[in-house]
Amino acid sequence: MTAVLDIDLGAIASNWRFLSAQHKGATAGVIKADAYGLGAAQVAPALLAAGCKHFFVAHLSEAVAVQPLIPGAMLAVLNGILAGQEAEFAAQGIVPVVGSLAELALWRAQARLAKRVLPVILHVDTGMARLGFSAPDWAALAGDASLLEGLNLRYVMTHLVSADKPADPMNAAQSMRFAAACAPFEGVRRSFANSSGLFLGAGAESDLARPGAALYGVNPTPGQPNPMRPVVRLSAPILQVRTIEAGETVGYEGAWTAQRPSRIATLGVGYADGYHRVLSNKALAYFDGKAVPLVGRVSMDLTTFDVTDVAAKPGDRLELINAAHGVDALALAAGTNGYEILCSLGRRYHRHYSGVL
Ligand SMILES: *Cc1c(COP(=O)(O)O)cnc(C)c1O
Repeated sequence: MTAVLDIDLGAIASNWRFLSAQHKGATAGVIKADAYGLGAAQVAPALLAAGCKHFFVAHLSEAVAVQPLIPGAMLAVLNGILAGQEAEFAAQGIVPVVGSLAELALWRAQARLAKRVLPVILHVDTGMARLGFSAPDWAALAGDASLLEGLNLRYVMTHLVSADKPADPMNAAQSMRFAAACAPFEGVRRSFANSSGLFLGAGAESDLARPGAALYGVNPTPGQPNPMRPVVRLSAPILQVRTIEAGETVGYEGAWTAQRPSRIATLGVGYADGYHRVLSNKALAYFDGKAVPLVGRVSMDLTTFDVTDVAAKPGDRLELINAAHGVDALALAAGTNGYEILCSLGRRYHRHYSGVL
C-alpha cells in the first residue's frame, strides 16, 4: 500500500542489445549515479548477462561498490583520478579516464611505484569544455611518448555536446576534431557516442559507444518516436478522496481553485521523492487509462489530483509514470530532461525489479 517503482531489468537488457545493434563497435553501459537512479547493483549484473563487457561510472566510490558484481568486465571512472586515489585505482584494477597532464603524471607515478603496466583511458576535449585534455596539453602528449610510459592506453574518448540535435554542426565538428586528435596515436581504439550519438550516422562510429540514458528508456532521438523500451513505472495508492465546492482551493497558497464541484485524490508522493515541486498544476497521472491532472502545489510528501471525471476511490492506484506517460513526458512537464527525472526517483518508493535473469 505504498508507492511502487517498477524497474524492468529485462527492458534494460533489451535496450542494450538494441543499442549494440546500431553500430559495429563494442557497447558499454554507463551506470553512474546508481545507474541513473535505478540501482547499479541490480542493473550492472543484468547488463553483464546481456553481454555488456565495459562499464563507466563517475566516481571511484561507485566503481569500488559495483566491481564485485561484474567480474571480468572493464570498469572505468569518468571523473578521473584525484590525488590520493592512485593506489586504490591500481589495487582494484579500475581504469581512470584521465583528462589532464597532472592526472596523467599521478597515474604514471603509480605505475612506476607498482612496477607494472596500468590501464588508462584518455579523454580529449573536443568542445564540451568540462573535462578532458585541452588542445595544447593534447599536443604535448602526442609529441612525447614518455608521458604514457608504464601505461596501457585502452581507449581515447571524447564527449558530444549536442548529440540529441542531429542538425547541430557541432556534431560534425567534434567528429573531425576527434579524428585529428586520435591520428598521432596509431591504431588506438576510440570511444565517441553516448546514447543519442549512436543515432547520428556513420560519423559517430567508434570502437566503444557509451550509452546511459537510452538504456533506461529515455528517448535518444527527441522529436522522433522513442525506439527504446520503457523501463520504469511508478504508481501510488490514493490516501483520501474529498469533494470540494466550486471556488474552494487545494493545497498550499491555494494554488488551484475548483471551477466546479470536484473530487480531489491525495497521494503520498511529493518533492521529497523527486516528484518535483515545479510540477505543481502541471503533471498528469493515469487512472484506468484516463489522464487526471495534478492540481495545486506538490508538497514534500503529498500531491493532489483532480479525479472528478474518473471513478477512483481511496486505495486505488494512480500511475505517475507509465508507458503512455513516460519519463520524457514527466520531464517535459517539469521543464527538465528524462535524465534528471530518473536520477531524482525517490528512495522511499518500494522498488520492485522484474525481468531478473
Ligand atoms: C553520462 C555520460 C555518458 C552517457 O551519456 P548518455 O547521454 O546518458 O547516453 C557518456 N559519456 C560520458 C563522458 C558521460 O559523462
